[in-house]
Amino acid sequence: MTETTFILEVQPRIPARLRRLEELAGDLVYSWDRRVRALFARLDAELWRVCGHNPKVFLRRVSQQALDEAAQDRGYLEEYSRALSGYDSYTQAQARDEITARLDPQADLVAYFCAEYGLHESLPIYSGGLGILAGDHCKAASDLGLPFVAVGLLYRQGYFTQIIDGHGQQQAQYRPHQIDDLPVTLALDAGGVPLQVVVDLPGRAVSLHVWRAKVGHIDLYLLDSDLPDNSETDRALTYQLYGGDREWRMQQEIVLGIGGVRALRALGLRPTVWHINEGHATFQILERCREWVANGDKFQAALERVAANTVFTTHTPVAAGHDIFDAALFDHYFTAFAPGLGIGVEALRAYGQSPQNQGSFNMTSMALRGTRFHNGVSKIHGEVASGMERYIWPDIPPDENPITHVTNGVHASTFLAQEWSNLLDVRFADWRSSLTDCQYWDCLQEVPDHRFWSLRQELKTLLLQMVRRRVAVQHRRAGVADAQLRRITRHLADDNGDVLVLGFGRRFATYKRATLLFQDPARLARLLGDPQRPVLIMFAGKAHPSDKPGQELIRQIHEFSMRPEFIGRILLLENYDLNLARRLVSGVDVWLNNPVYPLEASGTSGMKAAMNGVLNLSVLDGWWAEGYDGTNGWGIVPHGSDFDPAYRDHEEASDLYDLLEHQVIPLYFERGGHSYSAEWVAMAKASMRTILPRFNAERQVLDYVEKLYGPARDHRRKIDAVDDGAAALAAWKKRVRACWSGVAFVASTSDVAPDLTRTLHFGDALEVRAALRLNGLGTDDVVVECLLGEDQEDGSFVVRERLHLEPGSTLPGGETSYVLALRPRRTGLQSYRIRAYPHHTLLAHPFELGCMCWL
Ligand SMILES: *Cc1c(COP(=O)(O)O)cnc(C)c1O
Repeated sequence: MTETTFILEVQPRIPARLRRLEELAGDLVYSWDRRVRALFARLDAELWRVCGHNPKVFLRRVSQQALDEAAQDRGYLEEYSRALSGYDSYTQAQARDEITARLDPQADLVAYFCAEYGLHESLPIYSGGLGILAGDHCKAASDLGLPFVAVGLLYRQGYFTQIIDGHGQQQAQYRPHQIDDLPVTLALDAGGVPLQVVVDLPGRAVSLHVWRAKVGHIDLYLLDSDLPDNSETDRALTYQLYGGDREWRMQQEIVLGIGGVRALRALGLRPTVWHINEGHATFQILERCREWVANGDKFQAALERVAANTVFTTHTPVAAGHDIFDAALFDHYFTAFAPGLGIGVEALRAYGQSPQNQGSFNMTSMALRGTRFHNGVSKIHGEVASGMERYIWPDIPPDENPITHVTNGVHASTFLAQEWSNLLDVRFADWRSSLTDCQYWDCLQEVPDHRFWSLRQELKTLLLQMVRRRVAVQHRRAGVADAQLRRITRHLADDNGDVLVLGFGRRFATYKRATLLFQDPARLARLLGDPQRPVLIMFAGKAHPSDKPGQELIRQIHEFSMRPEFIGRILLLENYDLNLARRLVSGVDVWLNNPVYPLEASGTSGMKAAMNGVLNLSVLDGWWAEGYDGTNGWGIVPHGSDFDPAYRDHEEASDLYDLLEHQVIPLYFERGGHSYSAEWVAMAKASMRTILPRFNAERQVLDYVEKLYGPARDHRRKIDAVDDGAAALAAWKKRVRACWSGVAFVASTSDVAPDLTRTLHFGDALEVRAALRLNGLGTDDVVVECLLGEDQEDGSFVVRERLHLEPGSTLPGGETSYVLALRPRRTGLQSYRIRAYPHHTLLAHPFELGCMCWL
């Protein structure tokens, strides 16, 4: 016989004096404002932890007594009013000058679309790096006063909760969240009725609710299909992040892209810049085109208009990160939509063509064709993406195509440990407004070395405490005996501060090579096992439920961690989320990252670590290739993709062991008569000082404003300022594309053989001539350009000057003659090349069309 348990939640009454706690619980400012979070934690630390740091849930469950006492407690009330006045001055702050210099906070609005947002563990709608990055982007947008609105999906089951069982198998659990527990409110229309947005899917309409999450100055709108109007399957459409099959994904992306635009319209918002953060949200382009077509535009003109003020960020060179839909699936979902665009479904599908996937629809390709501003997320990734996506601009050398980069950054207030922000608040009052000032951070030199070290040790102790608790839960659940559990946790004691701790936390995707460190287990065991110099390594991360090789990595690490030589020295922690990440990145001594070059794109967790005075030991890929300067951590020089993978892994693992053995471990344990390692502190200070001001989200968002948002807003205005500008531009492109295959330089008999060196004296001019067959285009439609520069020993050509040739007479064969009086500004051996490409004043980028020909 089983008994039934009835659950009852008895909610306290919030005392009038603490009334605004509820307001604070409803604004995700708490995700980075530690004074606000401390107000909750201080009431009942244990309950705060049990509630998963969720202020809304906490306030419903905290004891009446704790609240009543706090309302009488002077100390608490002081904290409360300090936190509130901080909050009020934050919400009243105006937009920063760097924003108003480029955008108008009254008239402009950036609409940001992303499939996931990682703001805080209490809103679990993220899986990993992309989501955290989007969350940090929102937070920095709020800090800066950027006119900004974000759009995503409300996943009621979120991403999965990870359990690692006794065999190292990952179990994925989807737990439904109560909507009342989430820091969101239902968006209402003017009449106070919940706003309802509809998207059409084959054979039915799906209704969506719109939830609003307040993040300081900005709003994040989240779409939700779980409405009684919808069928059971449609209600589940938005339950899970990255769950389900291809068809499910297609439907989710329709909800996000098309539903997202409709939600903003229903809210009465008028974005002037649109940002598609990774391909999932690309369908928003089509919805916005549909609106213009309904308004009388032809599709091509609508696309010019829409693309003009749209930014697309691509986030990974890894194929699995790019959504590609089969032709049949695409056609099934867009056959009914295409007529609204005035084109057929096949013509529409062609916008998603890429060389690797003939016929199917690649969201990245569509995004690149439907936006005029595109970027990768680090310098290296920008170059890699330019190469990968070169087919969009077939004639253009990849390094000159329009894909640029903005290197990622992380939100400093979120990831800087409280112990650090307390220290900074006391010593450097204006640090929060100096986040992007590199010189400012030299002030860290003033922190005494012993203080720096003891703070680092404090953070490590907090981490070890948390890990001890988590590991016990994890292994007890798996049925591990107490004696074994003692072995697992034996190096985690509080008084064990002098252990060197390495951390590795991120998604378990194979290219991140979590097991590289185990290439030579015997050598690793020697490195970790020295009783005089104890070393611990912590691993954490989730593998996507369908990523079997990723799950196999988890299993392998589990197995290593149970071997006698590694037990207690290698720890595998389950359910990597923002809470664990904040502790891990601040509490370890060394942050390890060893991806396969050049697949990392950016990586961000190393930035979080560096801000906390942790040293990075990483492959020079992604952000670390920009961040590493020889004094602020350790870099492993990667092997290119020409090398055999086994050889590459072997070599890079050897470098990793060598660095650990000869640099990292000796440096940490070198005490030179102090209670701390002075050289370690010097390096850790360098890490914090050089990385914090360059790799934070504020710098990142300002780069977006400067390089992409501002120009996109301006570009759209420029097109709209011309009568029928978009239509004229579309028509011109069509004409140029039709003619271009016949445009060519024609050799004339007066040409000198290219390999003959011509001589010239400094100050004199060389007459450079070219004859171009325009094939029906006008001289206004084309630029003929001379690149003057030097050939390098490695075969590359470095351009020093770009000069235009002027059109002259028409030659007897019908070609147009072009001429330039070339007067080099420097002496020495040089070379020049001549090329032609289409030109129009309404192009966002000179090579937007992808057409070019060379003499
Ligand atoms: C920062 C972060 C990530 C991303 O880590 P990478 O090093 O960029 O792979 C993933 N998950 C969580 C919880 C994070 O905080």
